Amino acid sequence: MTKNFKLLLLAGDGIGAEVMRETRRVIQWLGKHRGIVFEMDEDLIGGCAFDAHGHPAPHSMITKALAADAVLLGAVGGPKWAEVDYAHRPEQGLLDVRKALGLFANLRPAICFDALKGASSLKPELVSGLDILIVRELIGGIYFGEPAGIEDLGNGQRRGVNTQVYTTAEIERVARVAFDLAVKRNGRLTSVDKANVMVSGLLWREEVQKIGEADYPHVKLDHMYADNCAMQLVRAPKQFDVIVTDNLFGDLLSDAAAMLTGSLGMLPSASLGAADESGRAHALYEPVHGSAPDIAGQGKANPIAMILSFVMALRYSFDRQEEADLIDKAVRNVLSQGHRTADIADTEESPLSTTAMGDAILNEMNVLNV
Ligand code: NAD
Repeated sequence: MTKNFKLLLLAGDGIGAEVMRETRRVIQWLGKHRGIVFEMDEDLIGGCAFDAHGHPAPHSMITKALAADAVLLGAVGGPKWAEVDYAHRPEQGLLDVRKALGLFANLRPAICFDALKGASSLKPELVSGLDILIVRELIGGIYFGEPAGIEDLGNGQRRGVNTQVYTTAEIERVARVAFDLAVKRNGRLTSVDKANVMVSGLLWREEVQKIGEADYPHVKLDHMYADNCAMQLVRAPKQFDVIVTDNLFGDLLSDAAAMLTGSLGMLPSASLGAADESGRAHALYEPVHGSAPDIAGQGKANPIAMILSFVMALRYSFDRQEEADLIDKAVRNVLSQGHRTADIADTEESPLSTTAMGDAILNEMNVLNV
């Protein structure tokens, strides 16, 4: 019996709707040509949800997200909501949904498409063939640790505090995700911390080492200090396979790795929660980029990051590797044929619109589907 997959689409603000439209066409193609039935529902998140319901992550949307097999999210935010209080900002909607789904592992691949190696900030030979995966702990560490706040000390002095805190369980669950991914890839994992100056980093290192020795003896595990990792990423990024790190270092290192690949419009991500007894885990897939207010509504957005985020859903939530490979290949071929949206085009090229890029990818999927 064919299983129906439940997908919740949250297009959000700005270019979110434009890139989601192209992704929806890819999803529908799979229904038509591969017989995969996706039950698609939609809802609002971010600024548009605030406008409609007074909250960027309304209860009704969270309920749907909890019931879905996977959530696809476009982007949130924009200048329209710049004056809204922090608790109701569009970006808060994103944090709320991540928290409600318990998404503790954020996966960000940094893949350099051969056709785009010239767009990297590094020399082409350093990034050609690059394929690394950063696994960032997403709902712990210094962004959430208590105490946190700004205190008035009198005499015109203030004190700002954030607390870095991790427990064994928090480290273990994200480390296991990273080890499992390393097993499926090239069997190498680099765990990144600041164990030389932070005791929380020492705990991180010891716990990751313990899990590696006990359960993943075939994964080659290294430990690296975060500052060295930042240097190595721009010196010789191909030395890495999977990197696992905490929330703060992951935030910084995954952005640095992103720039190795050329454009924000190309970068997907996945955020995964814990699996229940049936093996089903909450998951949210979204491009790394934001709502791009400077180009919103102009049909200029590159839909590839959003489409590749759906490809990650096919891999990690739906276990449809064949279809994921097919879409991946279609994207690579389209780029090799010279199709470009404005963000990845050379100045002399006339760029494709968002829809025309969607058309090119769908055409290539038809060609590959013989
Ligand atoms: P941004 O990612 O929206 O845009 C940065 C630059 O990259 C812009 O010049 C934009 O035009 C370009 N760009 C981004 N995605 C593109 C695409 N798919 N195709 C072509 N060009 C693309 O970052 P920003 O300008 O710093 O933020 C804008 C808004 O988005 C802010 O409100 C911010 O808070 C929000 N934001 C949301 C998310 C998210 O939803 N996950 C992430 C980052 C920023």
